[in-house]
Amino acid sequence: MIDIFDTTLRDGEQSAGVHLTVEDKVQIAKQLEKLGVNIIEAGFPYASPTDFQGVHQVAKEARGVTVCGLARAREKDILSAWEALRSAENPRIHTFIGTSEIHMRYKLKATPEQIIERAVNAVRLAKSKVSDVEFSAEDSSRSDPDFLAQVYAAVIQAGATVITVSDVVGYITPEEFAALVRKVKERTAGIEKVKISVHCHDDLGLAVANTLAGLTAGAEQLECTVNGVGDRAGNAALEELAMIMHTRRDVYPVETSIVTTELLKTSRLVSRLTGMPVQYHKAIVGRNAFAHEAGVHQDGILKEPLTYQIMTPADIGWEEEEQHLVLGRHSGRHAIRDYLAQEGVTVAEADFEAYFTRFKQITGAKQEITKEDMIALRQPEG
Ligand code: MN
Repeated sequence: MIDIFDTTLRDGEQSAGVHLTVEDKVQIAKQLEKLGVNIIEAGFPYASPTDFQGVHQVAKEARGVTVCGLARAREKDILSAWEALRSAENPRIHTFIGTSEIHMRYKLKATPEQIIERAVNAVRLAKSKVSDVEFSAEDSSRSDPDFLAQVYAAVIQAGATVITVSDVVGYITPEEFAALVRKVKERTAGIEKVKISVHCHDDLGLAVANTLAGLTAGAEQLECTVNGVGDRAGNAALEELAMIMHTRRDVYPVETSIVTTELLKTSRLVSRLTGMPVQYHKAIVGRNAFAHEAGVHQDGILKEPLTYQIMTPADIGWEEEEQHLVLGRHSGRHAIRDYLAQEGVTVAEADFEAYFTRFKQITGAKQEITKEDMIALRQPEG
């Protein structure tokens, strides 16, 4: 079983322009519960009183899932995360520190030895509060693999239960990321005692591909967000990962507890509460994801949906009437006949060719064709 770690409420909430209230967070968490995610990262409690409250409230109300709070590898952060998580059924503290040369030298101004010491102290403190502790090496993708293995081995000994290999800058490619996860797996002492997690960003559009590369290389926890919301270009999109594993079980023979029929509902809720629209052609949940306008495609779909559809829209939660064949300039006779029959608009067979010609004429000028248009078209002069 692969764990789905959703960080919509933390990494997603961190996106520019997104501010979720405590109530919003609880509402989303409840939906994530229905969706079947295993871990909800509810926020970064030390960051602000609102963040603290958000994690606190989600911890109190979410059931049947692990609730996680983020903390830098500092005592204050970890104690604050623990305070916020106290009432969680299954609390997890997630602590992190930068392990790349760039992060250590410029951001943290610390030597590699000091980084290991801070990481170990942080994990030890977290472990004294909760049994489930995740440690992330921030900027893993630009870190030295041997140093990474050293850090991970040290935190595993200190009690970490999950170690995360991350690409927080969205720079790595799938081949490189798979190789990195494999190296970590081979070189880290004690790795068999913990789960490997992967956390990828989408700056080059590779977050989902990299996450799957990590899965293939041995990761057992995937970090993602609904609609791919997150810092900058966002994170790996949960709905894409879920449907890839669902549709291509032959390539990724793994199980998750995701209830795919809740995906669309979750996407819409997150879009509404974050104020972040979903692009029309977004995979799985975009408005056009199952819309067909091209005549050739419409004809094929009407004969057999498998001709141009690799997934069943209902599996994602699409209602029948939303998987529309869009009437437009590209539509053919088959789709028009089907539409007329479905909508109960009668056009005599002898008039059909003339009707179709008029249809093609108005689609040149109109963006959207409505039922009223289709009825009006029965009269030659409309
Ligand atoms: Mn992130």
